[in-house]
Amino acid sequence: MNLHTLIFTNNDCYKAGRRITVKGIMVHSTGANNPNLKRYVGPDDGLLGENIYGNYWNTPRPDGKEICPHAFIGKLKDGSIATYQVLPWDMRGWHCGSGSNGSANNSHIGFEICEDGLTDADYLDKVYKEAVELCAYLCRQYNLNPQADGVIIDHSEGHARGIASNHSDVGNWWPKFGKSMDAFRTDVAAALNSQSQGGDSLDGDNNNAQPDAGEVKIGDIVQFKGGPHYVSSDAAKDNGKPKAGPAKVTNISIGAKHPYHIIHTDGSSNVYGWVDADKISK
Ligand SMILES: [Zn+2]
Repeated sequence: MNLHTLIFTNNDCYKAGRRITVKGIMVHSTGANNPNLKRYVGPDDGLLGENIYGNYWNTPRPDGKEICPHAFIGKLKDGSIATYQVLPWDMRGWHCGSGSNGSANNSHIGFEICEDGLTDADYLDKVYKEAVELCAYLCRQYNLNPQADGVIIDHSEGHARGIASNHSDVGNWWPKFGKSMDAFRTDVAAALNSQSQGGDSLDGDNNNAQPDAGEVKIGDIVQFKGGPHYVSSDAAKDNGKPKAGPAKVTNISIGAKHPYHIIHTDGSSNVYGWVDADKISK
């Protein structure tokens, strides 16, 4: 997985700031022929490429709508596939509307896969694999069983359950190439299994040092050792060098340069931002 973070702080959904207890993941596809992440994610961080229309969704109401998923999967400027997280995973997203039984916005992380013209099997293979890895990563983080009923569903399945608006994604796309949500759930379970056995499906292109003591999860209180913190997980320039002190892990972006977002828990440090793995210990 090639995971990056660019939080949509200008989106009204982010500003609403509601939190959820994550119980599942909803898979979406955009319904428009544009596989480029820059259509939706911006401003340009050097990898996305510039959106000359400036109509990416890091704006109060994208295309005039109250809409905001947690992540997008699509193409970077160089044509490679990446995932961009755009909301904290446990923030309430606006990705699926509602149905007769309520809304999966209250329970599910939602991510969008950028559609192309729906004729390129190779593109679908790549984004499908990225989506499998993202879901395995989230299942691990939130202790979800990918094959349990209703945990990983697409938008159309959400509608059938009465917890989403009437959309057909991803059933409008994947079956053209012999892919299904059932196979997807099986593939996520397999990826999760290989991770827990030390497999490298979350491989990536990164070799971040692990924190000093064991696996760190969102919500953990860690000891910050002092040093630079950053405004984004891939920022080049630091935003100051706060002192050491205890801090709470509020977000994790595996594979990023500064993979842990932490917030100080007392007055000994004022750390508030993304830090490197070797700057925290459990
Ligand atoms: Zn959808």
